[in-house]
Amino acid sequence: MISHVPKQLCCGCHACYSACPEKCISMQTDGEGFWYPVVDGQRCIECGLCQRVCPIVLAHSVERQPEAYACRHKEDNVRMQSSSGGVFSPLAEKVLYNGGAIFGAVFNKSFCVVHDWTDNPEQLYRFRGSKYVQSRIGDTYIQAKHFLLQKREVLFSGTPCQIAGLKAYLGQEYENLICLDLICHGVPSPLVWELYRKSVIGANALQAVNFRDKTVGWKRYSVGFELANGNKIIRVI
Ligand SMILES: Cc1cc2nc3c(=O)[nH]c(=O)nc-3n(C[C@H](O)[C@H](O)[C@H](O)COP(=O)(O)OP(=O)(O)OC[C@H]3O[C@@H](n4cnc5c(N)ncnc54)[C@H](O)[C@@H]3O)c2cc1C
Repeated sequence: MISHVPKQLCCGCHACYSACPEKCISMQTDGEGFWYPVVDGQRCIECGLCQRVCPIVLAHSVERQPEAYACRHKEDNVRMQSSSGGVFSPLAEKVLYNGGAIFGAVFNKSFCVVHDWTDNPEQLYRFRGSKYVQSRIGDTYIQAKHFLLQKREVLFSGTPCQIAGLKAYLGQEYENLICLDLICHGVPSPLVWELYRKSVIGANALQAVNFRDKTVGWKRYSVGFELANGNKIIRVI
Protein backbone atom coordinates (compact mmCIF):
# COMPACT_ATOMS: atom_id res chain seq x y z
CA MET A 1 0.00 0.00 0.00
CA ILE A 2 0.98 3.63 -0.41
CA SER A 3 2.18 3.88 3.18
CA HIS A 4 5.26 1.90 2.04
CA VAL A 5 6.39 4.99 0.08
CA PRO A 6 8.80 6.96 2.32
CA LYS A 7 7.14 10.13 3.60
CA GLN A 8 10.05 12.35 2.56
CA LEU A 9 9.43 11.37 -1.10
CA CYS A 10 5.65 12.01 -1.07
CA CYS A 11 4.59 15.26 -2.74
CA GLY A 12 0.94 15.12 -1.57
CA CYS A 13 -0.41 14.95 -5.13
CA HIS A 14 -3.61 12.99 -4.25
CA ALA A 15 -3.20 10.37 -7.05
CA CYS A 16 -3.43 7.45 -4.57
CA TYR A 17 -6.38 9.06 -2.79
CA SER A 18 -8.18 9.57 -6.12
CA ALA A 19 -7.56 6.03 -7.40
CA CYS A 20 -8.39 3.97 -4.30
CA PRO A 21 -11.42 1.78 -5.18
CA GLU A 22 -12.29 1.35 -1.48
CA LYS A 23 -11.98 5.08 -0.67
CA CYS A 24 -9.85 4.08 2.31
CA ILE A 25 -7.15 6.71 1.75
CA SER A 26 -7.70 10.15 3.23
CA MET A 27 -5.45 13.17 2.76
CA GLN A 28 -4.42 14.75 6.04
CA THR A 29 -2.00 17.48 7.06
CA ASP A 30 0.96 16.59 9.28
CA GLY A 31 2.41 18.71 12.11
CA GLU A 32 4.13 20.99 9.56
CA GLY A 33 0.87 21.50 7.62
CA PHE A 34 1.69 19.52 4.43
CA TRP A 35 -0.75 17.07 2.83
CA TYR A 36 -0.05 13.31 3.07
CA PRO A 37 -2.12 10.17 2.40
CA VAL A 38 -3.29 8.17 5.41
CA VAL A 39 -4.51 4.60 4.75
CA ASP A 40 -7.26 2.98 6.78
CA GLY A 41 -5.59 -0.44 7.11
CA GLN A 42 -8.86 -2.07 8.26
CA ARG A 43 -10.56 -1.28 4.94
CA CYS A 44 -7.55 -1.66 2.60
CA ILE A 45 -7.89 -4.69 0.31
CA GLU A 46 -4.18 -4.62 -0.71
CA CYS A 47 -5.05 -4.20 -4.41
CA GLY A 48 -1.86 -2.14 -4.91
CA LEU A 49 -3.54 0.44 -7.17
CA CYS A 50 -2.37 3.30 -4.96
CA GLN A 51 1.27 2.38 -5.63
CA ARG A 52 0.66 1.86 -9.34
CA VAL A 53 -0.60 5.47 -9.73
CA CYS A 54 2.07 7.06 -7.51
CA PRO A 55 4.26 9.38 -9.63
CA ILE A 56 7.12 8.85 -7.18
CA VAL A 57 6.99 5.06 -7.61
CA LEU A 58 6.50 5.35 -11.38
CA ALA A 59 9.24 8.03 -11.73
CA HIS A 60 8.82 8.46 -15.51
CA SER A 61 11.78 9.99 -17.28
CA VAL A 62 11.07 12.70 -19.86
CA GLU A 63 12.47 11.67 -23.23
CA ARG A 64 11.28 14.58 -25.36
CA GLN A 65 12.78 18.00 -24.70
CA PRO A 66 9.93 20.52 -24.96
CA GLU A 67 10.12 23.62 -27.15
CA ALA A 68 10.37 26.81 -25.09
CA TYR A 69 8.64 30.15 -25.70
CA ALA A 70 8.65 33.38 -23.66
CA CYS A 71 5.23 35.06 -23.54
CA ARG A 72 3.89 38.34 -22.25
CA HIS A 73 0.18 39.18 -22.22
CA LYS A 74 -0.54 42.36 -24.19
CA GLU A 75 -3.11 43.70 -21.70
CA ASP A 76 -1.63 45.46 -18.68
CA ASN A 77 -4.54 44.59 -16.39
CA VAL A 78 -4.21 40.84 -17.09
CA ARG A 79 -0.44 41.00 -16.46
CA MET A 80 -1.01 42.93 -13.24
CA GLN A 81 -3.34 40.20 -11.98
CA SER A 82 -0.98 37.40 -13.08
CA SER A 83 2.22 36.49 -11.28
CA SER A 84 4.42 36.42 -14.34
CA GLY A 85 3.69 37.21 -17.99
CA GLY A 86 0.08 36.00 -17.80
CA VAL A 87 0.24 33.20 -20.40
CA PHE A 88 -2.15 31.10 -18.31
CA SER A 89 -5.09 33.43 -19.06
CA PRO A 90 -5.31 33.22 -22.89
CA LEU A 91 -4.84 29.44 -22.76
CA ALA A 92 -7.67 29.19 -20.24
CA GLU A 93 -9.86 31.55 -22.30
CA LYS A 94 -9.42 29.40 -25.38
CA VAL A 95 -10.47 26.23 -23.55
CA LEU A 96 -13.48 27.97 -22.00
CA TYR A 97 -14.46 29.37 -25.40
CA ASN A 98 -14.43 25.80 -26.75
CA GLY A 99 -16.87 24.73 -24.02
CA GLY A 100 -14.17 23.09 -21.90
CA ALA A 101 -13.29 23.33 -18.22
CA ILE A 102 -10.22 24.76 -16.51
CA PHE A 103 -8.66 23.43 -13.31
CA GLY A 104 -6.20 25.28 -11.11
CA ALA A 105 -5.36 26.69 -7.70
CA VAL A 106 -7.73 29.21 -6.06
CA PHE A 107 -8.40 30.60 -2.60
CA ASN A 108 -11.44 29.14 -0.86
CA LYS A 109 -13.65 31.24 1.43
CA SER A 110 -11.17 30.80 4.31
CA PHE A 111 -8.23 31.80 2.06
CA CYS A 112 -6.82 28.26 2.10
CA VAL A 113 -5.35 27.24 -1.29
CA VAL A 114 -7.32 24.49 -3.01
CA HIS A 115 -7.71 23.16 -6.54
CA ASP A 116 -11.03 23.88 -8.18
CA TRP A 117 -12.54 23.98 -11.66
CA THR A 118 -14.86 26.18 -13.68
CA ASP A 119 -16.40 26.37 -17.13
CA ASN A 120 -17.55 29.94 -16.57
CA PRO A 121 -15.30 32.64 -18.13
CA GLU A 122 -16.40 35.11 -15.42
CA GLN A 123 -14.68 32.91 -12.83
CA LEU A 124 -11.31 32.83 -14.61
CA TYR A 125 -9.88 35.63 -12.43
CA ARG A 126 -9.93 33.31 -9.37
CA PHE A 127 -7.39 31.02 -11.04
CA ARG A 128 -4.95 33.79 -12.00
CA GLY A 129 -1.86 34.36 -9.95
CA SER A 130 0.53 32.13 -8.04
CA LYS A 131 -0.46 31.12 -4.56
CA TYR A 132 2.85 30.14 -2.97
CA VAL A 133 1.35 27.39 -0.82
CA GLN A 134 0.74 23.64 -1.32
CA SER A 135 -2.67 23.42 -2.97
CA ARG A 136 -5.14 20.74 -1.92
CA ILE A 137 -6.10 18.74 -5.03
CA GLY A 138 -9.23 17.27 -3.41
CA ASP A 139 -11.43 15.52 -5.98
CA THR A 140 -10.27 17.54 -9.00
CA TYR A 141 -8.41 14.61 -10.68
CA ILE A 142 -11.65 12.60 -10.51
CA GLN A 143 -13.67 15.52 -11.88
CA ALA A 144 -11.16 16.12 -14.70
CA LYS A 145 -11.35 12.45 -15.75
CA HIS A 146 -15.13 12.72 -15.79
CA PHE A 147 -14.97 15.65 -18.24
CA LEU A 148 -12.30 13.94 -20.36
CA LEU A 149 -14.50 10.88 -20.77
CA GLN A 150 -17.32 13.21 -21.84
CA LYS A 151 -14.92 14.43 -24.57
CA ARG A 152 -14.83 17.94 -23.14
CA GLU A 153 -11.60 19.90 -23.38
CA VAL A 154 -9.76 20.16 -20.05
CA LEU A 155 -6.96 22.53 -19.08
CA PHE A 156 -5.32 21.38 -15.84
CA SER A 157 -2.89 23.80 -14.26
CA GLY A 158 -0.69 22.95 -11.28
CA THR A 159 2.79 22.26 -10.00
CA PRO A 160 4.91 19.66 -11.86
CA CYS A 161 4.24 17.15 -9.04
CA GLN A 162 0.48 17.66 -9.39
CA ILE A 163 0.59 17.24 -13.16
CA ALA A 164 2.69 14.07 -12.75
CA GLY A 165 0.09 12.85 -10.24
CA LEU A 166 -2.78 13.62 -12.62
CA LYS A 167 -1.10 11.80 -15.51
CA ALA A 168 -0.29 8.79 -13.33
CA TYR A 169 -3.87 8.68 -12.06
CA LEU A 170 -5.31 8.90 -15.59
CA GLY A 171 -2.91 6.21 -16.84
CA GLN A 172 -3.42 7.09 -20.50
CA GLU A 173 -3.12 10.05 -22.86
CA TYR A 174 -6.22 12.10 -23.72
CA GLU A 175 -6.29 14.29 -26.83
CA ASN A 176 -8.67 16.71 -25.08
CA LEU A 177 -6.33 17.26 -22.08
CA ILE A 178 -3.95 20.22 -21.87
CA CYS A 179 -1.59 20.11 -18.90
CA LEU A 180 0.00 23.35 -17.73
CA ASP A 181 2.70 23.14 -15.10
CA LEU A 182 5.01 25.84 -13.89
CA ILE A 183 8.60 26.22 -12.79
CA CYS A 184 8.43 25.36 -9.10
CA HIS A 185 11.10 25.52 -6.42
CA GLY A 186 8.76 23.78 -3.94
CA VAL A 187 5.55 24.58 -2.12
CA PRO A 188 5.43 26.33 1.27
CA SER A 189 3.29 24.86 4.05
CA PRO A 190 -0.44 25.69 4.25
CA LEU A 191 -0.04 25.94 8.04
CA VAL A 192 2.73 28.55 7.75
CA TRP A 193 0.50 30.50 5.32
CA GLU A 194 -2.37 30.41 7.81
CA LEU A 195 -0.19 31.64 10.69
CA TYR A 196 1.42 34.36 8.54
CA ARG A 197 -1.96 35.53 7.20
CA LYS A 198 -3.37 35.83 10.70
CA SER A 199 -0.27 37.67 11.95
CA VAL A 200 -0.63 40.27 9.17
CA ILE A 201 -4.39 40.87 9.18
CA GLY A 202 -5.14 40.18 12.86
CA ALA A 203 -8.89 40.25 13.52
CA ASN A 204 -9.65 42.13 10.26
CA ALA A 205 -11.85 40.48 7.65
CA LEU A 206 -9.94 39.62 4.48
CA GLN A 207 -11.32 40.37 1.02
CA ALA A 208 -8.48 39.33 -1.31
CA VAL A 209 -4.81 38.29 -1.35
CA ASN A 210 -2.21 38.70 -4.07
CA PHE A 211 1.01 36.73 -3.51
CA ARG A 212 2.77 38.76 -6.16
CA ASP A 213 1.39 42.24 -5.79
CA LYS A 214 2.88 44.32 -8.60
CA THR A 215 1.88 47.75 -7.24
CA VAL A 216 5.51 48.42 -6.31
CA GLY A 217 6.82 46.66 -9.42
CA TRP A 218 7.49 43.05 -10.37
CA LYS A 219 11.10 42.64 -9.32
CA ARG A 220 10.52 43.61 -5.67
CA TYR A 221 8.56 40.70 -4.24
CA SER A 222 5.51 41.83 -2.27
CA VAL A 223 2.29 40.30 -0.93
CA GLY A 224 -0.91 42.37 -1.01
CA PHE A 225 -3.83 41.94 1.42
CA GLU A 226 -7.15 43.69 0.72
CA LEU A 227 -9.29 44.06 3.80
CA ALA A 228 -13.09 44.14 3.89
CA ASN A 229 -12.96 47.73 5.25
CA GLY A 230 -11.26 48.85 2.01
CA ASN A 231 -7.74 49.16 3.45
CA LYS A 232 -4.81 47.51 1.70
CA ILE A 233 -1.69 46.10 3.35
CA ILE A 234 1.38 45.50 1.18
CA ARG A 235 4.26 43.50 2.64
CA VAL A 236 7.46 43.96 0.65
CA ILE A 237 9.76 40.99 1.29
C1 LIG B 1 4.40 27.14 -5.57
C2 LIG B 1 4.99 27.84 -6.77
C3 LIG B 1 6.37 27.99 -6.90
C4 LIG B 1 6.91 28.65 -8.01
N1 LIG B 1 8.28 28.78 -8.11
C5 LIG B 1 8.82 29.42 -9.17
C6 LIG B 1 10.23 29.59 -9.28
O1 LIG B 1 10.98 29.16 -8.40
N2 LIG B 1 10.72 30.22 -10.38
C7 LIG B 1 9.88 30.70 -11.39
O2 LIG B 1 10.35 31.27 -12.37
N3 LIG B 1 8.54 30.56 -11.29
C8 LIG B 1 7.99 29.95 -10.22
N4 LIG B 1 6.63 29.79 -10.13
C9 LIG B 1 5.79 30.18 -11.29
C10 LIG B 1 5.38 31.63 -11.35
O3 LIG B 1 5.05 32.15 -10.06
C11 LIG B 1 4.13 31.80 -12.24
O4 LIG B 1 3.05 31.07 -11.70
C12 LIG B 1 4.30 31.30 -13.63
O5 LIG B 1 5.40 31.99 -14.20
C13 LIG B 1 3.01 31.46 -14.45
O6 LIG B 1 2.61 32.74 -14.45
P1 LIG B 1 1.44 33.31 -15.36
O7 LIG B 1 1.54 34.80 -15.23
O8 LIG B 1 1.42 32.69 -16.70
O9 LIG B 1 0.10 32.75 -14.73
P2 LIG B 1 -0.62 33.04 -13.39
O10 LIG B 1 -1.94 33.60 -13.72
O11 LIG B 1 0.22 33.82 -12.46
O12 LIG B 1 -0.77 31.58 -12.72
C14 LIG B 1 -1.75 30.72 -13.17
C15 LIG B 1 -1.76 29.35 -12.65
O13 LIG B 1 -0.79 29.00 -11.68
C16 LIG B 1 -1.36 27.92 -10.94
N5 LIG B 1 -1.02 27.99 -9.52
C17 LIG B 1 -1.03 29.07 -8.75
N6 LIG B 1 -0.74 28.71 -7.49
C18 LIG B 1 -0.60 27.38 -7.49
C19 LIG B 1 -0.33 26.43 -6.46
N7 LIG B 1 -0.14 26.78 -5.21
N8 LIG B 1 -0.27 25.14 -6.81
C20 LIG B 1 -0.47 24.76 -8.09
N9 LIG B 1 -0.73 25.60 -9.09
C21 LIG B 1 -0.78 26.91 -8.80
C22 LIG B 1 -2.85 28.07 -10.98
O14 LIG B 1 -3.47 26.85 -11.23
C23 LIG B 1 -3.10 29.11 -11.98
O15 LIG B 1 -4.04 28.67 -12.86
C24 LIG B 1 6.06 29.15 -9.01
C25 LIG B 1 4.67 29.02 -8.88
C26 LIG B 1 4.13 28.37 -7.78
C27 LIG B 1 2.62 28.24 -7.67
